[in-house]
Parts: sequence; structure tokens; C-alpha cells
Amino acid sequence: MRAATGRPTEEGAAVQYVENVIELVGDTPLVRLTSVTRDLGPDAPLVLAKVEYLNPGGSVKDRIAVRMVDAAEASGALQPGGTIVEPTSGNTGIGLALVAQQRGYRCVFVCPDKVGKEKIDVLKAYGAEVHVCPTAVDPLDPRSYYSVSDRLARETPGGWKPDQYANPANPRSHYESTGPEIWAQTEGRITCFVTGVGTGGTISGTGRYLKEASGGRVRVVGVDPEGSVYSGGTGRPYLVEGVGEDFWPEAYDRTVADEIVAVSDGDSFTMTRRLAREEGLLVGGSCGMAVAGALRAARRLTKDDVLVVLLPDGGRGYLGKIYNDEWMADYGFLEQATQGTVGELLG
Ligand code: PMP
Repeated sequence: MRAATGRPTEEGAAVQYVENVIELVGDTPLVRLTSVTRDLGPDAPLVLAKVEYLNPGGSVKDRIAVRMVDAAEASGALQPGGTIVEPTSGNTGIGLALVAQQRGYRCVFVCPDKVGKEKIDVLKAYGAEVHVCPTAVDPLDPRSYYSVSDRLARETPGGWKPDQYANPANPRSHYESTGPEIWAQTEGRITCFVTGVGTGGTISGTGRYLKEASGGRVRVVGVDPEGSVYSGGTGRPYLVEGVGEDFWPEAYDRTVADEIVAVSDGDSFTMTRRLAREEGLLVGGSCGMAVAGALRAARRLTKDDVLVVLLPDGGRGYLGKIYNDEWMADYGFLEQATQGTVGELLG
């Protein structure tokens, strides 16, 4: 249950509400996947999806936004009336914008120019200021989005840069919320946890909690796009958003994952579309990737196992891409998606 505040009315009945939208972050439900799992056969484990798009900002990143701001307030790095400056265009930006707006901070985001207008408009809708920088320049170039955000954080009075890639409050937020929620929701019966890896915060914090709580019994499987460093790649480009890296972030704890599975863009997007059509879960591309990886892990489990796969965000932001037939056809993914097959699964 989400946190709820009950206030007695004059008649004595309690009015149910939360004090503000931040209290709605976390406590997301587990939903059983019944259709995309059908090829697993009679000995299939229970496969449950942790649906993070039900957070108020629409993604798992609301969790880290709240905790990073809490920690910065506690340490004094963020003072009343201060400004949050971060190079992000995606879910972390939305989470930070939401928290900033509730707590009276200014928010300045720096985005590369490849970011879609809709994403920028969402940040602006929460009252954030957005600077757009050229993608086609070296990260060390003063015009790059890394350089501009560093400069803005330095030059803005009261400026604070959360830096989700190195901020310990990122994995800690998952250690303190996502992990305990999954443990309680499965009554400690979880045996396998599967999640995509971007900054590494989710897998490091949630995975570590579940390993500790289970005395090492829970198997932790990371999923990343083919080409990313986590599965041994060099940072080769891929299309799935929010996951995979071309460097090793400090937020990633290399000791937690038992295994890293690499999934292709085609398989990620095919599964993403199946989740919408067959499970009623309109989710983002990294969710399809995570589920494709989860099904591979599930093939080695039995019906006594409980697998939880985390779905980081919703699909509204991807309607023009993954859910668009022309976009899919341009990249050669449409045939696979309309047949509904995920290559490695059948292979
Ligand atoms: N999927 C999406 C859509 C994301 O935005 C993120 C965060 N970058 C992830 C997956 C991965 O989460 P984490 O950064 O905790 O590894």
C-alpha cells in the first residue's frame, strides 16, 4: 500500500490522501506475466514484473531523485532556494523536476540535441529550464552537454549537480526501497532478480539487498544492450534508451550481478511491443530488453522459482519509435516484431 494520510472529518470518517505527490513514489505493484512466458512450458517459474511506470513521474528514476535530493539537503550541498543542474533529458530529469518543484528548487537541465522535443517539453511542463547542446562535439568541447552542465553547476549560485552516475544515494535508494519492497511482496520467495543496467543503481542497490536478505540465494541477472560495456562490449551504438554504457559508472557495483545477458535492439523492441499487446503493459524499450533477458534466465529455472523483472518506464515516450511501424521498418525490426518472435529465445 502506498503511504496514506487519514484525517478524521467532523463525522469521524477518515479522509484518505497523501500530503504531496512525492509520497506516491515507490510501492509499485508486481504483475504476473502470463502471455510472453507461454513458451517456457509446464515447469516455468512464476514470472512477475515490477511496474515502475506507476511512479508519479512515470519511471523508476523518481526513487533516486527523491533520495539524492534528501541526501543533498542533509549534507547542505543543496540549500533552500538552490538550483539543481544535471545533464539529463530522460527519466532522471523528470524525477528531479518533480521533486524540485515540490520543494521549491530551480531546475536546469542540459540535453544533447538528439533528444526529442516531447521529452524537453515534459521537463519544461514541470517548470524546469532546458539548455540544448550539440551532440556532434567532443565531450571535452566547451559546447558539449557535459561541459555546459559542469559550467552551469559551477557558475549558478546555489547550484548542485546530483550526478546519478557517481552519487551513492542512487544505489542506496534501491537498497532502501526497491529491494525491501520486492522481498516483502514475494514474502522472501524470490529466487531470481532481473533488471536492465544503465547507471547501475538499480541492480547494485536492489541486487545487494536481495542477496543479503536471502543469504545469497537470490540470483541477480543484469541485462544490457549488445555492444555495451557491461556484457563485454566496447560501447558500440545501440538504439534502446536508458541502459548500457561506454564506461564503468561508480554507481555500478561489479560484485552484485551473477550474470550479465546481452539483448539485441530487435529482440528488445519485439518484446516491448508484445508487452503492450499481450500483457497490457505499455512500456519503454529497456523493459522489453529486461523481459527478453528474464525469459532467457527463466529457462534455467523451475516452477519452484519466483523471478522478478523490473520494468523501468512507460511507453508513451516511445510512440514515435518502438510503437511506430515505419520507424521499426527503417531499422529492419518490423518483420521480427510482427511475427512476435524473439530470436535468441527460440534459438
Ligand atoms: N531503463 C530506463 C528507461 C532508464 O531510464 C534507466 C536509467 N538510466 C534504466 C533502465 C537503468 O537503470 P539504472 O540507471 O538504475 O541502471
